[in-house]
Amino acid sequence: MTKITTYGYFDLLEALREPGCAVCRLLKRDIERHLGAILYEFVLDHSVSGRFRESRGLCSEHGYLLTERGNALGIATLYHAVLYDLLADTERTPIRAPRLFGGDRATPLDPKAPCSVCVYRDETAARLLALIPVHIHENEFRETYSASSGLCLPHVTELVKSAPAVAQQFMTLQRPIWERLKAELETFMRRSDFQYAHETIGAEGDSWRRATALISGERGVTRQEK
Ligand SMILES: [Zn+2]
Ligand SMILES: [Zn+2]
Repeated sequence: MTKITTYGYFDLLEALREPGCAVCRLLKRDIERHLGAILYEFVLDHSVSGRFRESRGLCSEHGYLLTERGNALGIATLYHAVLYDLLADTERTPIRAPRLFGGDRATPLDPKAPCSVCVYRDETAARLLALIPVHIHENEFRETYSASSGLCLPHVTELVKSAPAVAQQFMTLQRPIWERLKAELETFMRRSDFQYAHETIGAEGDSWRRATALISGERGVTRQEK
C-alpha cells in the first residue's frame, strides 16, 4: 500500500497557523488519503482487501467517510467480500446461545482486527502529539501555539496523558485559548439576544461552530470515548 506522509514538526507549525485543531487538520488530510488508497489500491494489492475483510469493513464513522469519496464499484467490491466471509463463517460456525455465567462470548461475527483507519489514525496522532513535548520549550512553538485555535479537547487529553512531564506547561498555553473562546461565546450569546439586536455580530458569529469542533474534535479524526 502507498506509503502515506509522515508529518513532521514543520507541518505541525504550519497547521497551527490555520484555523481549528492542528492535529485534527493533519489527520483529516491523511485519513482522506488513506481512504483513497483503500479504494484505489485494493485491486492491485490484495493485502488491502485482506485487511479490510479481517476487520469486517470499517468502523461506522470511517465507513461513512469512505462512501463520501465516491467510487461505488470499489466500495461494492470490498463489502461484497465482507458479506462473502460473514456468510461462510456463520455457515461453518453456527452462533450458539451465550452461556449464563461467563464463558467464551466470541461469535463467528467478530472481526479479527480493528478498523484499519482507526489504527492508522491513532498511530499518526500519537506521532504528531509526540512532537509537542520536544518543542514546547522553544519560543517559536509557544508563540505559534498561543496565537492558534489550540488543540481540540480529545487531542489535549491525549497529549496530557501521553506527556505528563509537560502537561502543566502545556495547559498554561491552552487555558488562555479556552478563555478567549468562552468570551467570544458570551459576546455571541449577548448579541443574539433581541434586546441587543442593534449590536452587529462580528468575528464571534461562528464561535459556536468553532467551540463544537474544539470540544468534540473533527469527525472521524478523534477517538470517541464518550
Ligand atoms: Zn484535534
Ligand atoms: Zn475506524
